[in-house]
Amino acid sequence: MIAIDGPVASGKTSVGRALAVRLGYRFVDTGLMYRALTRLALRRGVPLDDESALERLAAEVQVQIVDGSGGSVRVLADGDDVTDELRSPEIDAAVSEVSQVAAVRRAMVAEQQRIAESGRVVMVGRDIGTKVLPGAVKVYLAASKAERVRRRHAELAADGSALSIERVRENVELRDRLDSSRAEGPLRMAADALRIETDGLDVDGVVDAVVALISS
Ligand code: C5P
Repeated sequence: MIAIDGPVASGKTSVGRALAVRLGYRFVDTGLMYRALTRLALRRGVPLDDESALERLAAEVQVQIVDGSGGSVRVLADGDDVTDELRSPEIDAAVSEVSQVAAVRRAMVAEQQRIAESGRVVMVGRDIGTKVLPGAVKVYLAASKAERVRRRHAELAADGSALSIERVRENVELRDRLDSSRAEGPLRMAADALRIETDGLDVDGVVDAVVALISS
């Protein structure tokens, strides 16, 4: 099992997916699970500060991660494939509020631990090494804020969003702040994680470093 954590746009998804393909492991992007629940909360008009309503939603809806073609990951919410709707600016703006609710996290962590039972997984998120899979080989990806904002802005632009770099920076700062300061499962580097600064590194370079760690 390999756990990869790090802040917004630190490279977790690209590195995690490439590493999983290289090792023949399953890739599980846990951010998509929190995003799927957030999408549902927004669609149903659940107030983001109503913790009990969010807890009920998390208990009632089944969020599943399934393998798509070519190493991709699909997300099903009560059986509906919602993957293509999960990386929108609206969800970016709301997801960290939803994910700070302790009961929401408990439901998601239980599902993530169930998924990892097979052992051969690369799982990426914020609390994977510290909480979800403490026995995994752990990697923490870091990158400068300027680089992370640039990456997230480019991803959104590629998806057709016209959001300014300033607005993207605000969202990155908001999510970093909420994700690192919440009481349950905050973003932290595990004491025994390998920390890799990804500024200026390509995906293959980071994957090589992780493969070297596993084989050492
Ligand atoms: O990784 P990604 O940026 O897609 O994650 C979206 C959001 O989901 C994060 O900003 C965080 O609020 C939440 N998340 C989390 N714990 C995880 C993965 C994601 O709280 N393990």
